[in-house]
Amino acid sequence: MDIEQFRKAGYQAIDRICEHFYALQEKPVMSQVKPGYLSQLVPATPPEKGEDFQIIADDFQRCIMPGITHWTHPSFFAYFPTANSFEGILGDLYASSVSTPGFNWVASPAATELESIVLDWAACLLGLSSVFKNTSRVGGGVIQTTASDSVLTAVVAARSLYQRNHPDVPLESLVIYTTTQTHSLGAKAGLILGIKVKALEVKLEDQLCLRGEDLEKALEKDTNAGLRPFILIATVGTTSSGAIDDIPEIGEVVKSYPDLWIHIDAAWAGCAFAAPELREKLYVKEINETAHSICVNFHKWGLVNFACSVLWVRDRQNLIEALDITPAFLRTKEGDSGVVTDYRNWHLSLGRRFRSLKLWFVLRSYGVEGFRNRIRRSIKLNEGFVELIKQSPNLTLVTEPSLALTVFRLAPKSHLDSQSSYSLAQLNELNKAYHASLASRSDIMLTQTNINGIFCIRLAVGSPFTEEKHIQQAYNVLEEEAKSALQLWKQGHAANSEAQV
Ligand SMILES: *Cc1c(COP(=O)(O)O)cnc(C)c1O
Repeated sequence: MDIEQFRKAGYQAIDRICEHFYALQEKPVMSQVKPGYLSQLVPATPPEKGEDFQIIADDFQRCIMPGITHWTHPSFFAYFPTANSFEGILGDLYASSVSTPGFNWVASPAATELESIVLDWAACLLGLSSVFKNTSRVGGGVIQTTASDSVLTAVVAARSLYQRNHPDVPLESLVIYTTTQTHSLGAKAGLILGIKVKALEVKLEDQLCLRGEDLEKALEKDTNAGLRPFILIATVGTTSSGAIDDIPEIGEVVKSYPDLWIHIDAAWAGCAFAAPELREKLYVKEINETAHSICVNFHKWGLVNFACSVLWVRDRQNLIEALDITPAFLRTKEGDSGVVTDYRNWHLSLGRRFRSLKLWFVLRSYGVEGFRNRIRRSIKLNEGFVELIKQSPNLTLVTEPSLALTVFRLAPKSHLDSQSSYSLAQLNELNKAYHASLASRSDIMLTQTNINGIFCIRLAVGSPFTEEKHIQQAYNVLEEEAKSALQLWKQGHAANSEAQV
């Protein structure tokens, strides 16, 4: 392909992407293909001779698009919707046109310098303390691929710091603290690094948040047993139910445990820090006082296309001490003199994508006000959904709704009053069947979760295309399926009791 052919194919690509967005609402949310579908369409070996690009572009529509689940569909309420903005797409396009591995300043000065500046903008946007800004020259921010990479990097830095301070403590004594509600990234970090992980219990009556008292008890018990908890992965907005660990209480406890690194996983909810009226509830002030590191995924609620996970640290030296390996061929006079940031020392890989460009495009296009309004809009849509659930005869909230996330289940209110009709096991069975029927639909997508033994369903709002009518439609579908699930259940039980007679 030469430059003029690229121009033509590029215009066509943009046209087709626009058509895709025009038609998005009508498409099935979840891909309808069966496992292995693609091997029927794509040969097992590469072509001997190069193919015409038009055929390749057409095959994207023919072979790939049917296998896409539309995470930005207005009726995608599963997991957390992924961000998507046209500015983000264009940022990615420009970034790949200059294809820079950006591992140090010299590799492409703009890639490093823009990242430092834009992450300071993002810290401003979210109300983070200036100690986390790159201009502080002490703390700073770095873009990682995912929250899992961010946490792994934080754990490596925390371990290294702990071992420098306590060279005699054997590795086997080290423990990573999570809670039972922490995303599986905590367990995975332990698995990768060969470090013990302990998940602290949290209670439904505390809205599944980690309380200071429970942390303190665990610290006392484990320290007395010779274990050395060196990092706590606290969550602001858990994946399962949006629970928010009690950061003020945690902050008080760790005053007596200065060796405990506090990592805040705010992968999803962190974008909501942008709205000043939410900061108190999300403990932004206490995070600013307590956290050693914070992670926010702009690719979830933050309008930036996947992937863009930001990790801020209070002291960049902790990353560099843990991760800096500088062979002769990577040495530069700018790096050695310390006047520039070499981001390769701030994460696990060497090369890195030029991701700050899309964040820059998004933050400039929306502005702080536009960004905040998007967050507020999703929350408002979710509040509308919560109102519907509260009036529903069949659906019941399981936890307090959190920001744009609602956790509920099928539990007929009339039966709940009489207390006798359904046991927990029966309700779980009923809800599994209910979720299975929801999952077989192509016009809506929701995921399930298990909260301390209760099988529930989550609805997460986040797509910029979701409007009130999609919430109403979702509710209608949920009621309709709830009625049939209940009917089936009653028939099944009537048949069972007849069989017993
Ligand atoms: C989504 C999510 C993660 C995992 O995110 P990745 O970026 O895919 O690793 C971790 N923690 C929380 C709270 C999340 O919501």
